[in-house]
Amino acid sequence: MSNKSSSNPSIYKEPGPKLDKESPFESMMERFRFAADLLQLDDGMFQYLASPVKQVIVSIPVVMDDGRIKVFEGFRVIHDNVLGPSKGGIRFAPDVNLNEVKALAAWMTWKCAVVNVPFGGAKGGIRCNPKELSKNELERLTRRYTANLLEVFGPDRDIPAPDMNTDEQVMAWIMDTYSMNSLRTETAVVTGKPIILGGSQGRKEATGRGVVTVTLAALSKMGIMPNKTSVVVQGFGNVGSVSAELMYEQGAKIIAISDISGGYFNASGIDIPDAISYMSSNNRSLEGYPGAERITNEELLELQCDVLIPAAKEDQISRHNAHKIKAKIVAEGANGPVTANADSILEENGVMVIPDILANAGGVTVSYFEWVQDRQGYFWTEERVNRRLNRMMRSAFDNLYGVCGQHNITMRQAAYVYAIDRVAETLKLRGIYA
Ligand code: NAD
Repeated sequence: MSNKSSSNPSIYKEPGPKLDKESPFESMMERFRFAADLLQLDDGMFQYLASPVKQVIVSIPVVMDDGRIKVFEGFRVIHDNVLGPSKGGIRFAPDVNLNEVKALAAWMTWKCAVVNVPFGGAKGGIRCNPKELSKNELERLTRRYTANLLEVFGPDRDIPAPDMNTDEQVMAWIMDTYSMNSLRTETAVVTGKPIILGGSQGRKEATGRGVVTVTLAALSKMGIMPNKTSVVVQGFGNVGSVSAELMYEQGAKIIAISDISGGYFNASGIDIPDAISYMSSNNRSLEGYPGAERITNEELLELQCDVLIPAAKEDQISRHNAHKIKAKIVAEGANGPVTANADSILEENGVMVIPDILANAGGVTVSYFEWVQDRQGYFWTEERVNRRLNRMMRSAFDNLYGVCGQHNITMRQAAYVYAIDRVAETLKLRGIYA
């Protein structure tokens, strides 16, 4: 029976502050509906996959440094746990809301399924402004949030990770709070921890490394040698700078980079190690970088190049500028940099988009390795982590490439079809517990 998506009472259709027509979340749901149709999911399965397994809202009272009590609101949503324990980051931001967390949790389900990591999807958040909190207040907030969710979290149940405004230190507090309550050290309850506390080698570079693995795979399908490739990278933070550096090491010419301070262009290629050291010594900003000329963000996206890696933020390529994109390959380092409305324009113009749920899944893949290492109590070398990461990313790319050919669809559509099919198949085998 074909799915009637428009009549499905999907929880993601509730209006929320971020759910405008071009938002990444609505874009994700549009792609989900396309794949569900193609797979002819029946209504029951559609509703199952569109509904989170669990949504928890907690009040988090915190004694502030001045002695007052302030109550924050925290969320944790488990979208799905059919493939295994759920996995997903925790963000601290003033505008976090349940709708956003629900959509991001679903996104994690598809991302884990695409790279064949045995996890379901989850996401969490606390509505707060971390810039206004002292370190001690942040610690008390994190520990009380964790304490309120002790029955949700667990190495076999639900495993948080860093996201917007949360870092290794926050993960260490979560791990310690959970461990104190379970009366044993439980490192595998979170990933993205400091290495000394059971974190993994290679985790920091994992997302950029994965972006480069799938980009090289796409170039080889097109018969383009890496050392004959021109590359543009938007965003020069964790994902962008590592992607740029590894492409540079492959002999590619990186003709433009950018960060929040603006774009930097050099037709003969930017010396990426030099740009990274400039940024590190310049308060982590490219402002004033002398090795290139200034261009705007719009100009950067529209440059003639082989590969464009948007690695800054969502909604960068929309129906307003998609027809001006001249890259042959767009590798989505960021989450949701291309809106659903832009997909068909890029497709018509023959641009191959490597979708975010594949391209930036290197991070969750090495988080999985971190969890495996914590559970084994045996830690791998960086070389082993990178080798296994490359293997999993390459094999995920090849799987999706096969699905593209099978259905004559884009890589993005293939990613959703593959992920949804995998979760639906597993659910059919497990059945519905009654
Ligand atoms: P980051 O904060 O380290 O870097 C973001 C970079 O983007 C910075 O250089 C910033 O200056 C730049 N930037 C911000 N706004 C910009 C704009 N308007 N124009 C140009 N540059 C701009 O963040 P990150 O960890 O590298 O994450 C980047 C993206 O990748 C996000 O969408 C994130 O969700 C996604 N992602 C990150 C990971 C990870 O492991 N870090 C994993 C999966 C997805």
